[in-house]
Order: sequence, then C-alpha cells, then structure tokens
Amino acid sequence: MNSIESLKAEVTKLKIELSSLWPRPGTGSRLRRFVLQACLAAWGLALLAAPAGAAPPSGKLLVAATIVPLGDFCQKIGGDLVQVQVLIPPGASPHVFEPAPSVMARASQARVFVYIGAGLEPWAAKLLRSRGNSGQVVVEAAQGLQLLRETCHHGCEQPGAKPAASHRETEAAPERHLGGNPHIWLDPVLVQDICRKIAGALIQADPDHRARYEANLKEYLAALEALHQEIQQHARAWTLRDFVSFHPSFSYFARRYNLHEAGVIEEAPGREPTPRQLQNLVTAVRRSGIRVVFAEPQFNPRMAEVIAQEAGVKVLMLDPIGGPPPYGSDYLKLMRYNLAALDEALR
Ligand SMILES: [Zn+2]
Repeated sequence: MNSIESLKAEVTKLKIELSSLWPRPGTGSRLRRFVLQACLAAWGLALLAAPAGAAPPSGKLLVAATIVPLGDFCQKIGGDLVQVQVLIPPGASPHVFEPAPSVMARASQARVFVYIGAGLEPWAAKLLRSRGNSGQVVVEAAQGLQLLRETCHHGCEQPGAKPAASHRETEAAPERHLGGNPHIWLDPVLVQDICRKIAGALIQADPDHRARYEANLKEYLAALEALHQEIQQHARAWTLRDFVSFHPSFSYFARRYNLHEAGVIEEAPGREPTPRQLQNLVTAVRRSGIRVVFAEPQFNPRMAEVIAQEAGVKVLMLDPIGGPPPYGSDYLKLMRYNLAALDEALR
C-alpha cells in the first residue's frame, strides 16, 4: 500500500475522531467546548466532592495546586500540616482544562495557591484577579526560571517554519502568555527550585511550623537529587539520543539529560500533523534508528500508532502528569516509570 495515501486516510479519520475530543476556535466549536467543559467540570467536581463540603480538618493549611505533580510537591513539603487539592484531574490535559466556577471558588478559598504559569493555566490569572486582597499566598512555579523557547511548545510547525499562534494564544489574553515551554516539572533539578518556592509559601502562610516545613523540604530535596543522579546514571548507558514525543512535554528533561527531540507529533496539543508532517516524522524515525514513538496517556495514541506502524517501531507511554496506577500521584514513582520507558527506547 502507498504509505502516503494510507497516512492521508488515517489523518482524515483521526481528524473526525479528534475534532470530537478537542475544542478548537471557529464555527461550530461552541457546543463541543461546552460539552468538554461540562465533562471536565463534572470530573473535577467529583474529585473535589469529598473535601469540598467540609472545612479542612482543624489546623490544616488548605493548599490548592493546579496539576498532580505540584500537588505531590505540596504534600511532601507540607506533610500532615496541609490539605492539598489538585484542581486539574489526573487524566485531563492542563492544555484544554477550563475549571467550572465552583472549582474556581474552591481554589480561591485555599490559603496557598500553586500553579505552573508560563501560559499553562491561563484561567489562573482570572482566579488571581478575582480573589482580590484575600491574603492568599501564591506560587508561580515558572517565575524566575529560564523558559525554553526554541522548541516552541505552543507555537511552531516543523523545524524551519516560522512560529504560529497556538490554540491557547488565540483564545487567551496574549499578555498572559509568556511564550515559553511550561513543562518545567519534568526536570528534577528545576523541581528543586519549585519545591523551595512552595516551602517558602507554606512558611509565609503558617510561620509557626517553619521548622517542620524546612525539614520536609530538606528531605524531599535529597530524594529529588537521588532521582536526578539515578537518571544521569541511566542516561550514560543510552546508546540512542533521539526520540519522538507526542508533544514537547519532555523538552526540559531532554535538555538536562542530553537527549534530542527528533520530532514531536503535535507541536501544540490538538494540532494534529498534516500528512506531510506525518511522513517527515516517519522518515526521521527511520533515519535516526529510533525504536520507539512515545504517546501520552492524556491524549489519543492513534497518531503515534500510525507513525510507529509506518516506521516499523513500537509505541510506549511517557506520562508528563501522573495520576493513574502504577505510579499514582507520586512524582518520584512517575519519573522512574518514565525512566524505564526511556531505558527500553534508548538503550
Ligand atoms: Zn504540554
């Protein structure tokens, strides 16, 4: 069979499937957006249902974090002094998440609010504006970090093409978009910085327990350092340096451990590749001896499967968020799961 023709057919089929999954600007998108938002909001509410009804157990500091890994960092540093709510349910992509007003209300009640920034959660700015002078302590994890721009997380076509507006940029206020790649939490060294910020915020909100937050931070920083050393050790044994990911979520990881993103399937989540881009990816996989194409559990794996089938390689999962078994919400376990997948792909 002509591979370009079969790719074209797959793309058409996928476009129909994906258009029902992802909202995009333009005519006819409002109903889809509404349905998607309603589903995600219901999911989020179900997740929050238990703590939402009651005030946190006495003495506990209420902390809201946008994504699962941030929630885990807060829990590890806060220990039993905090009650952590994760606002974006595991399994949902932060890129398409829009919280219901009730979730926003819960978030604004938290004493400490932790988000990534860098355009990942454009709705957080709305939340911060609406909370006014509540005394809430806010952590923007990306603040002060050098963000990767060259991979154009939410912005470019294949290498050489000029940057284009992303789905977020077209929908959100442009002043809130910092233009960088937001996936900083997938570099365990940058996470150490994020954790110091979180500890600072917890101490600011609850200065009486400074010593315990500092002790927990010290312990978790050591665990993060051990993870970093372990990944470095594995990376030395990798014979391949190129990989193809679903979207540029492992760019900071790649920079830290000297890997090369030979291609991404979707430059921005929801922007499926053209048949030509698909064919380019297949060619890149064949040329660089890549044995695995990565998919992500938050997104439909079909596009990765099409490329893998054409190139005669297999599909493995890299999970940038976490949540489901076997790692659950534990960041260290999540990263070791991803490390095992990379071992299989790159050794
Ligand atoms: Zn992303």
